[in-house]
This record gives sequence, C-alpha cells and structure tokens, in this order.
Amino acid sequence: MKRTLSVEALFTNPSLKGRNSVFPVSLHPSTPIFVLLLRMIQKLLEKALRLEFLTAEEGVTLFREAPTAALMFVGDQLRQKHVPGKKVTWIIDRNSNTTNVCVANCKFCNFYRRPGHPESYITTLDEYKIKIEEMFALGGEQLLLQGGHHPELGLDYYTQLFRDLKMEYPQLKLHALGPPEIAHICQLDQLSHDTVLQTLNEAGLDSLPGAGAEILNDRVRRLISKGKCGSQEWLDIMRAAHRTGLTTSATMMFGHIETLMERMEHLVDIRRVQAEKPDGAVGFLAFIPWPFMDDGTLLKKLKRARNQCTSDEYIRMIALSRIMLPNIKHIQASWLTVGKQTAQVCLHAGADDMGSIMIEENVVSAAGAPFRFTANGIQQAIRDAGYTPQLRDQQYAERQLPKQIQQQVLDRETMIID
Ligand code: SF4
Repeated sequence: MKRTLSVEALFTNPSLKGRNSVFPVSLHPSTPIFVLLLRMIQKLLEKALRLEFLTAEEGVTLFREAPTAALMFVGDQLRQKHVPGKKVTWIIDRNSNTTNVCVANCKFCNFYRRPGHPESYITTLDEYKIKIEEMFALGGEQLLLQGGHHPELGLDYYTQLFRDLKMEYPQLKLHALGPPEIAHICQLDQLSHDTVLQTLNEAGLDSLPGAGAEILNDRVRRLISKGKCGSQEWLDIMRAAHRTGLTTSATMMFGHIETLMERMEHLVDIRRVQAEKPDGAVGFLAFIPWPFMDDGTLLKKLKRARNQCTSDEYIRMIALSRIMLPNIKHIQASWLTVGKQTAQVCLHAGADDMGSIMIEENVVSAAGAPFRFTANGIQQAIRDAGYTPQLRDQQYAERQLPKQIQQQVLDRETMIID
C-alpha cells in the first residue's frame, strides 16, 4: 500500500508529544509561528522526497526543527527509492593495519605510535597470511587495510605489499588505505594523486575506503588532525579515485568540535564530488557516519570534547544523511560505535546496510567502541529489526552465505557481544 507524506500528522499526533517533538510545550499547534515552521519543514521534506539537493542551511533547519519521527519517515521513504525492499546487507571482512607508526598526531587517535616507539610495528607477510586464512575460515574475502603515516613507507612498499598478497591469494579483495594515506604517499614520493592511485590499482587495490574524512572543514581539521591532508585534498583524491575507476565510500566522524553547519557542509561537499564523477563511474558507493569516540583521547583532554551523541541524535544524522545525499545509494549504520539497538532503529530511518562484522578492528576500538557482532549475531539483529539479512561484497553484490562458516570467538569480558 502506498503511504503518503503527512508530516503534519506526525507533528500533531498526541502520542508523540514531548517525545519526538522538538517544539516547546508552550508552542501550541494553532499558533501562527507553529504553522509557519510546520509548512517550512514540510516543504523541505517534500523537496528531499523529490531527490532534490537541499542546501547546508536547509539541512541545519531540518536537523534543528524537524521531529525525529518525520525525519525517520522521510529517511525510510528515500531508502525505499534507492534500495527497495526489506533486505539489509552486511559484509564479513577484517580491518587489519599495515603499521601503527604515524606522524600525523590526530588528537582523537589512541592507535598510533611515534616512530621508534617500543610498541611500533609493521605487519609482516607471515602475519598477513595468518590473518587472511583466519578470515577465509570465518567466511570473509576482503581485507580492509589501513595504517599510520609511516615516514618511510612510500609507493614502492605498498605496491609490493599488494602484489605479494594478491600473488598468494588471488581471490582476496583489498579495500585499502584512504585519502590521507594516499596524500602521505604522494608527498613522500612527490607524485600526483592519479599516478599513485593508478599504480596501486594495478598492483591490486580493489577499492578505496573513505577514511580520514572526519569533518571536511579546515578549521576543524587544524584543531583535531593537523597532520592529515586538508579537506580539499581529501575531496580531490576521491575525484582522482573516481577517474581511475575505483569505487569508494565516504565517512563522517562527528560530534566533537564541529558546528552543525560544518556537518551539513561536509555532506554537501561529498554530494558535489559524487555529482562530478565521470559517466559510468560508481564513485561513492556508501556513506557511513559515526560519532567521535572519546575514551582517553587527547581531544577529550585538551579540547574537552566529549562524545555526547545520543541515540536520537545518531538516528537523526542517519535520516539527514539520506536526505542530504540523494546521489549516494547506500547508507550504513555504525553499530560498532552506537551499539545494536540504535543501529536497528537506524534501519527504519534510512540505513540499508549494517556494514561489517569486523573480524579485527583496532583504531576506533582503541578510543572506546566496545560493541561486537558474530556472523549469526548480526543476522539475528537484522531479523529482529524486521528485515532480511543479505551477505554482500564490497561492491554491494549479493553473496551466498558460505556453507561452512566458523563463528568468531570473542572476548566477552572486554566487549559487548551480540
Ligand atoms: S587517525 Fe590515522 S593518521 Fe591520525 S594519528 Fe591515527 S593512525 Fe595516524
């Protein structure tokens, strides 16, 4: 049955009063200002439903003024336009790290070590083999491979590594590095973005993760990740990746020192790069927002930034991501940072993907993300939310669930496992 938009009904439904409505109790539905606000929100939501581009200011208005129920309703309608049906996708992969040596000094990162630190490492080929074979046994086929900005690891190192891994495991998929690491390699070797990306692609890079975006605003980046590439370079590297034919994803780490307008401008910038991709290129396959994890970070100590993102705020960001990004097909809920229940609600607010079970994850977890899923657990969570789980690969092609798949053994003392 076709549902029609009735934002007004959502606003005036007495059962929502005081829960989802952001209007003060004193603002009675019959007051002129309420009616004006209602009409403005309704117009913006209808614009979103026509898949038109909303401005950053319009995004801020919706984020500030629209009730969560109205945003969820529209987010879900848009999800149905992009990805019709009741399937929710997920992936089995392993987030391994090339090295923890880094000279970028991001203030939200507890993962890196300075060069020469006794805990610093570069992963060896023998270690990769153990990790990859373990991942194959758990049903995965992809390494999400990232690491620090090592001052001595340039293009030759990564091309050799990718060739060695693909030689040993031709079926392995490499979703590796990210714009800041590409920028670092370009700087070390004095090469262009296009040259580095084409060379890595030829060596075995299958797709480029949207890592290190944080907030694409140089005021914010100067304060939290000064050693990383600037926002323009991040976007330019994604443009070059799309020219090379690599599929990519886009991300946002929010809820620290950015303003709401900077958050919305981030979405507008991502959308602009996607609109510029060459004909036939896929560009950004997915967008993944997650809240800043603050546990023990310098950002918390020095800037007093706290993770204050509530479930409600995260769900609103998922819906706003759908609304602001009408040219990106998939929106992923970050269960790793917000937990199972919030991620399940996000599936009713515009998200169509639950991401990876992450056989290994060391970067976000180091700042306090305690949640974990087994392969059975993520599928059950999707079913419990009212959807059908579907295993996928990095290109969002459906995969058959391998017949013999081991379940991960996880540490229940230190993790919250579903
Ligand atoms: S987030 Fe990445 S670039 Fe920043 S300090 Fe950590 S490892 Fe280095």
